[in-house]
This record gives sequence, C-alpha cells and structure tokens, in this order.
Amino acid sequence: MGIEILFLLLPVAALSGWWLGRRGRIQRENDSGLELPSDYIKGLNYILNEQQDKAIDLFIQMLDVNSETVETHLALGSLFRRRGEVDRAIRIHQNLIARPTLNKSQRALALFELGQDYMRAGLLDRAESLFGELVDSAPHSEAALHHLVEIYQQEKDWGDAIKAAQRLEQSAGLNLAYMVAQFYCEQADQALRQGEPSRALKLLRRAMNEDRQCVRASIMEGDIERSAGNYKAALKAYQRIEQQDPEYLSEVIQPMLECYRALQRTDDAINYFNTLLEKYAGISCMLVLADLIEMRDGEQAATEFITRFLKQRPSVRGMDRLIELNMGQASESVRDKLHVLKEVTDQILANKSVYTCQHCGFSGKSLHWQCPSCKHWNTIRPIHGVEGE
Ligand SMILES: [Zn+2]
Repeated sequence: MGIEILFLLLPVAALSGWWLGRRGRIQRENDSGLELPSDYIKGLNYILNEQQDKAIDLFIQMLDVNSETVETHLALGSLFRRRGEVDRAIRIHQNLIARPTLNKSQRALALFELGQDYMRAGLLDRAESLFGELVDSAPHSEAALHHLVEIYQQEKDWGDAIKAAQRLEQSAGLNLAYMVAQFYCEQADQALRQGEPSRALKLLRRAMNEDRQCVRASIMEGDIERSAGNYKAALKAYQRIEQQDPEYLSEVIQPMLECYRALQRTDDAINYFNTLLEKYAGISCMLVLADLIEMRDGEQAATEFITRFLKQRPSVRGMDRLIELNMGQASESVRDKLHVLKEVTDQILANKSVYTCQHCGFSGKSLHWQCPSCKHWNTIRPIHGVEGE
C-alpha cells in the first residue's frame, strides 16, 4: 500500500516541490558536468526495499520548505491521513511547522492539518490545544470550532461543548440550539448521577430555554418529579411531549400511567389515553388502555377493544396481547394452539429493533439521543408499523 503511494507521489514531488527546489542547483552543477540527484535515487531504493519511513525522511529533507513546496508537503500529509497512516501525516506536518520560513497563513494551515491528524490518532488533548489556538485566526476559525465541539463531546466535557457550540452559532450563523439543549441534558444526567436532582432540574430548564422541542428534557424532568413523588408535576412534564413531538409519546405512556395511579385518577388516565389513541393510534397507548379496560370491565371487554383496534391497524404487539387474553378464556386444546401462535409473536418481537436512526439507518433496542453510529443528535426515533410502535 505504501509503495503505491510513494510511486504516486514521485511525480508530484518531482514536478512541484522537489524539482522546483532543486532546479537551480542542478543547473549550476550542470555547468561543471552532469550530476544526477543522488538523493532521488536513494529514495527510490528505499521504496523498492519497502523502507518507506526512510524514504519519507529523505523526501522531507529533499523538499526544501519554501513558498512553492509547502503545498506539496500539505498535500502529502493530508494524503497520508486520509489513507489512515496518521503517524506519517503527523511527522510531515510537524516537520513543516518547525520551519522558520513559513509565513503566518501557511503556519496556521499546517497547524490546522496537524490538529486533524491528532484527532484522527485519538490524541484529543493535543488536537484541542491546537484548535484552541486557531479559533481566533480568521480562515480556520469556524472549522476549528466545529472540531472543538466534536472533541468536547468525545471527552464528555459538556460545559466547554456548550461554549464552543454557542460561539460557532454566532460566528457561522448556525442554529445549534437542539444540540446545546442536548448538552444541557447531558449535564443534567451527570448531576443526577451525582445525586443532585435539583441541580439537574435547573439544567433541564436551560435545555428547554434553548430548545422548546427538547423531548429528552421533558422525559428527564418527568422522571425526576415522579421519583420525588411529585406526580402532578411529572404528568405535566410528560404531557408536554405531545406538543413537542408525539412520536415519542410511547416512551412515557407507562410512567404517565404510574402517575395517574398514584394520584388515584385512573378514569382520567383512560380518557387521556383514549384521546391520544384517536389522534396517533400508538400501540403502547392501546396496550395500556387494554390493561386499564381489563381491570375495570374484565377480559372480554379488553379482548373486544383490542380486536376493534387491530381491524383498523394491524400490529404484532397487539396480536401478541390478544393471544394472551384469549389463552385465559380458552379450552385446553385451543390453548395449546394459542401457545404455538404466542411463540411466533414472541420470536418476531424478540428479534425486532425498536428504534432507528433517520440519518444513517442504525437500529437497536434502546433509545439513544446521540446516534452511536453517525453521532448525530435527535435522529433516533421509535419505529412505527406492523412490528413496531
Ligand atoms: Zn445515525
């Protein structure tokens, strides 16, 4: 792999940097008789003997750094990085930066490239300090801030991530409120794990101030209030999700039921869930209603309710529950057959992903606010359809 790169680079180096840098000397040497550039031959030998690192050292020496060859160095470095040979890219860029002949903008560009090498190599601290230097130099400021936001996320340094994102919003005219709100939620999550729910609530309020549509803040606020026994406040937070993004209501149906029960308002629960079911036909909502109807009016009423629903909107989870209900009422021979059916629905549901990323298609069984695969925020949603929600 390395060999083909260097062969590829020979004409580049020869045409741009090396040749330009050497031309003067060769011409002078020609005056006293032709002399072949022996470094060049040596370099070729290293390549042929697969001693690529020696070859690179030689090329670095051969390429005098001047305004004409800086481009070649940069091209070489970024080529290595793109091919995953980060150590080599780092060597080339570090060598470049060490040269006193670079002008200010060339130096900034080389630093920017080196920062990207460090990121690629996972040397986040070093990348962070380089990009930190570059945020004030005009041509790289925005790109450096982009990288900083990414680095702080990887380091889970949410406070600095918020500052960098807000600065990026200002300088690039971007709207990153949805992301900043998620960073506040991450801080709230940290506060919760440190046993500080009231600090967490304050951070969630900041998240909501950034992004009114932040479903995660509502869910977290509801969970905190519910654990503290503040069921009314919890319900209020959970119910906000209908206005924010009703697709996520399935996440809070069970917690809402728990709140209604604690407040001894199951009739209100039935009314509220019925309204939601009419509007969105969600399966989680239907199943909770079926349970409530079973408790209030018996198995038969619950069976009829689910059957009516499934005629309008087929669903494996609905069918699974219907089979369960029928097993309770069935004779022994029918029950055996229902068992077989139940095993089928169980298997379908066991292998089924429940969430998927709208950006990259990643899917899984748990809800991530940041996609583990493409790292986008707010792109993972519950899957709808026959086998889903
Ligand atoms: Zn994704």
